[in-house]
Amino acid sequence: MDTKITLTKALDMLKKKECSSTELVQSFINHATAKRHLNCFITETFENALSEAAEADKRIASGSFLPLDGVPIANKDLYCTKGVQTTAGSRILKNFIPPYESTVSGNLKKAGAISLGKLNMDEFAMGSANLNSAYGPVINPWRPTSDSKKDLVPGGSSGGSAASVAAGLCLGATASDTGGSIRQPAAFCGVTGIKPTYGLCSRWGMVAFASSLDQAGPMAHTVSDCAYLLQYMAGYDEKDATSLNVKIPDYAANLKPEAKGLRVGVPKEYLQGLNEEGQALLQKGIDWLRAAGAEIVDISLKMTSAALPTYYIIAPAEASANLARYDGIRYGARVDGATLDELYQNTRHDGFGAEVKRRIMIGTYVLSAGYYDAYYTRAQKVKKLISHDFDNAFEKVDVILTPTTPGAAFGLHDKNDDPVAMYLNDIYTVTVNLAELPGISVPVGLSGEGLPLGLQLIGPKLSEQRLFNVGLMLEQAAQFPHFNAV
Ligand code: GLN
Repeated sequence: MDTKITLTKALDMLKKKECSSTELVQSFINHATAKRHLNCFITETFENALSEAAEADKRIASGSFLPLDGVPIANKDLYCTKGVQTTAGSRILKNFIPPYESTVSGNLKKAGAISLGKLNMDEFAMGSANLNSAYGPVINPWRPTSDSKKDLVPGGSSGGSAASVAAGLCLGATASDTGGSIRQPAAFCGVTGIKPTYGLCSRWGMVAFASSLDQAGPMAHTVSDCAYLLQYMAGYDEKDATSLNVKIPDYAANLKPEAKGLRVGVPKEYLQGLNEEGQALLQKGIDWLRAAGAEIVDISLKMTSAALPTYYIIAPAEASANLARYDGIRYGARVDGATLDELYQNTRHDGFGAEVKRRIMIGTYVLSAGYYDAYYTRAQKVKKLISHDFDNAFEKVDVILTPTTPGAAFGLHDKNDDPVAMYLNDIYTVTVNLAELPGISVPVGLSGEGLPLGLQLIGPKLSEQRLFNVGLMLEQAAQFPHFNAV
């Protein structure tokens, strides 16, 4: 079977018995095996997937179809999966086999989805190019037209999730977004990804990076596919104190292209420094929405320039606290030493990569007694001001349109060693995490080099349905070649 299909189409085929889950899963396993050089998977669970497919086929034959029954997906390797190694892209968690299942991956399993394995990612979700994984980089399945041999990065930190969907190795993937890690790789790989409102998906069993910003979300080819996945990933969980106790709408059933009568804000701060290609893409989005009956409103989000510095205080601060638990005693790898302190030092020295160590040092510094107020408390205040910016904007508009990234995917072997230049990749996405809002990236065009580019829609809290509907409108207008890299 061809893996050039959407999740929505596969569900329909399974329901109509046009194929079996076993056939479907086997085809994706074959394709994933053929494309191992992309390095998307850290752990493959193909045999287990085939036995789950056999179970799904029995259910389907007996007429009791679960909502995502029999479709092959895969999980970012920071979702704890019972009995299956979970590394978060780090050496320090090599051979860590959780005795429990994260709520999100468990929810998808309960809905009948079948996991093919654990997807590569930047170590502890810190990165924008998947170059920080202890298990090697992921290769973007797209190639520039001027050099068909050049390997590109898939974006990060959910690089394995984005590349595996784009390459047709699975029909959808879980991902996570702390400052852009769903939307930025989705844009680089030409897939759709949504970061929901903070608290919509449970963080229980997700390896923590920066707890006040981390949010789970899906990636898949289309808006409709993401709507199906999010519906079953989301939901209240008493095991997560920040979980929102709200009813999850039937996103897929309520999905319809929407723009007429909507006020769409375009923030002027996001236009500054945008290159010509980015401007042209944004203009296309504006034209499509206007032609479909939306009103375009110029808005200002004046705190935008403070977003990255704020993020790079809050995220490392929370990371340094969260990562204190990796001490060689409780989880994963251990490197012995003559004393207990030496054991801690040796384990953390060998277990963590350079970017993680950099963040732990920054985080420890901004939380230290003399600097806490000057940095951490101040950053929390600026975070509030960023939220107020959006609150004010949403009095005038229903949704905000921006580019997802400043440009297309860059080369795997380009000069990528400047951390600050890397941090700039998230300039259009971090504000959304700081304000706890939902944001979706929809692939809508190709660069001069034939590489995917995405547009981002941002909405008020819990406006996921609106984002899906406006996103669908953009998707239909853009006619993006979803299967070019399969
Ligand atoms: N690229 C950002 C970082 O390195 C965001 C990562 C994320 O969203 N997990 O922190």
